[in-house]
Amino acid sequence: MQISPDQQKLLRQLPGVDSLLEIIAKEAFFKGIPQTVLVSSVRNVIDAKRQAILNNDPATEASSLLDSRMIDAVKKTVNAAMTANLRRTINATGVVVHTNLGRSLLAPEAIENLVTIAGRYSNLEYDLSIGKRGSRYSSVEGLICEISGAEAALVVNNNAGAVLLCLETIARGKEVVVSRGELVEIGGSFRVPDVMAKSGGILKEVGTTNRTHIRDYENAIGPNTGLLLKVHTSNYSVVGFTAEVTLRELVDLGATHQLPVMEDLGSGTFIDFSKYGLLKEPTVQESVIAGTDVITFSGDKLLGGPQAGIIVGKKAVIDSIKKNPIARALRIDKLTLAALESTLRLYRDQEKAARMIPTLQMIMLPLDEIQKRANRLAGGLKKIGDPRLRIRLLEQSSKTGGGALPLMELPSLCVAVQIEGISPNTLEKMMRNNDPPIIARIENDWYVMDPRTIQTDELSAIETAFENLTTRAPK
Ligand SMILES: *Cc1c(COP(=O)(O)O)cnc(C)c1O
Repeated sequence: MQISPDQQKLLRQLPGVDSLLEIIAKEAFFKGIPQTVLVSSVRNVIDAKRQAILNNDPATEASSLLDSRMIDAVKKTVNAAMTANLRRTINATGVVVHTNLGRSLLAPEAIENLVTIAGRYSNLEYDLSIGKRGSRYSSVEGLICEISGAEAALVVNNNAGAVLLCLETIARGKEVVVSRGELVEIGGSFRVPDVMAKSGGILKEVGTTNRTHIRDYENAIGPNTGLLLKVHTSNYSVVGFTAEVTLRELVDLGATHQLPVMEDLGSGTFIDFSKYGLLKEPTVQESVIAGTDVITFSGDKLLGGPQAGIIVGKKAVIDSIKKNPIARALRIDKLTLAALESTLRLYRDQEKAARMIPTLQMIMLPLDEIQKRANRLAGGLKKIGDPRLRIRLLEQSSKTGGGALPLMELPSLCVAVQIEGISPNTLEKMMRNNDPPIIARIENDWYVMDPRTIQTDELSAIETAFENLTTRAPK
């Protein structure tokens, strides 16, 4: 690349790392900032400037290279470096179990227990009754069995791990029969065929995308068949001319051929949502009653607990899964266990669970409560009194998310905003860069916030964000 004389001149004016660090050492702003952060910030600012000069970037006039301007840039970089990367975020999307935004919020009891266990020693793997080494899983296994009706249970790091572990234990080197309509991909990286391949199981697809019959499974069974697998198509629905084999039929077929049956429920739930006027989602208890040998589901989707993969089923199968060395590699940590145990305890009383577990509470949030929040937010925004602010209430629907209840539309009332002179995309970006960040969606040029997933104590933070934004925006 040819460097022009102008560029050479600018490059020579670029201050050096040491000279900027000398200035920084005298400025109060930088007191207490770790030296590593200062050095890397100065380097980053100088490197970025050098690159900008080489690119003939218009913002590289000589005045931008003055020490004072460079130090301003370093301050910004230092601020960014000193801000936590993982931050609390306001979810105004209306998607309750939003994987990108951390899925489930824990119930107060679960948070309290997590904090206690985090800061103290615990009997994690110590049996207090005999004073000897105990099992890490004993704090939750009994509870899971009590609530689900299963004979035995095991928890691992997440449901993807649970599926992998079960397939590897039961079906390595053997054929696993699955319906073509159930070869799901869950957002990002979980695909049934890929997990199957990694587990060493051999995928044996049967039926068609929209219709699979029990005879399809039956015809596929051969000497090397090791498992019949059912996957809950949690994030989509095949509608129209469809046929699906029930779990019951599959269990009967398995019994006839002495083959185990596994169900990956994905977003497992202990609660029958149809009792609350919502769409039916298969429950863990129903899968247990049907006689399924092993069932896997997530801890942080509809269950509303911490990230975990829960495995329940017949004792003999669960025992062999526990002995698999991969179980050790996927083991759940004590903070998760603490939060999971407290969450599970709430499920002993379903009404209480629905009230206390934020995920369930938000899914079942009555429309009049949402309307109240929407009116409060809209009122707060109107009070800012900026004539450029246009506010509308929109009847829309929220989503459960987390690959659950894909067809369910939860009626909601959203607050939509436009600001004259600021494009919806710019507005979205500004809100995203707010502290705390606010995430919402753009629809038909409106910035749309769904109060269902906005916590009541977050409404004022949103109002403040808009207030700051309108004060800062040039009139
Ligand atoms: C979400 C999901 C998984 C993966 O669960 P994670 O807890 O995210 O690891 C696996 N199978 C199905 C059907 C799912 O919906």
